[in-house]
Amino acid sequence: MKIDKGLTHFQMGIKQIEQLDSVLQKNPDLKGVAFVGRSNVGKSSLINSLFGKKTARTSKTPGRTREINIFSFEIKDPKNLNKEYPPFLLFDLPGYGFAEVSKAMAKNWDMLMGEFFANIPDTVAIINIQDARRPDQKVDQEFHQFLKDQPLRTILALNKTDKLKTQKERSVLQKQAKLLKSNYDWVEEFYLVSAETKDGVDKLENSIISHCLSCLE
Ligand code: GDP
Repeated sequence: MKIDKGLTHFQMGIKQIEQLDSVLQKNPDLKGVAFVGRSNVGKSSLINSLFGKKTARTSKTPGRTREINIFSFEIKDPKNLNKEYPPFLLFDLPGYGFAEVSKAMAKNWDMLMGEFFANIPDTVAIINIQDARRPDQKVDQEFHQFLKDQPLRTILALNKTDKLKTQKERSVLQKQAKLLKSNYDWVEEFYLVSAETKDGVDKLENSIISHCLSCLE
């Protein structure tokens, strides 16, 4: 099974709680995935490599995308192209933990995300992206303190593994990943990925597909 990279379509951008409430009320049986992470961890790059080149806007300016961007996406079975699956939704959530925005913007993030996580059905899996070179930063921990109380399926992907060049750096990452697995016991799956080299991205794609298929059962 694959995500059909030509069939991901932008649906809408959400800035206000009222807009979010209206979408959630109109679509009580949302199914799909939500990507969230510290700004600049490569969330947009990873989304683009999973869902098609031009899905999310990548940016060199951390914290630029302040909206929840919603896309529809489709999966297909290359061995059985006649079989049709309903479209799923991809939520590209605004990045958390950026130093240069005002308190008012940080507060808006808290409110919008608070509303999102309190109301999203458990058929939407949360995919948290962290930087493999420095996972589990203070803002990541704060986010997980909040996330661990939500009854949502959570996947953690450590991105930019290609930046770890030496054996020493890679073994530090292996140790950190092991520690994270035991500390973050509400996280169901862990992946080491690189949006740049695509390393590990196929495994994350399979995990997204199996989540989507499990929602149809
Ligand atoms: P976002 O703010 O989390 O959406 O991050 P972006 O996708 O805009 O990426 C931030 C920067 O990191 C960009 O310069 C990307 O080219 C770079 N980047 C993203 N993923 C990777 C990766 O896996 N490896 C490397 N080396 N660079 C990456």
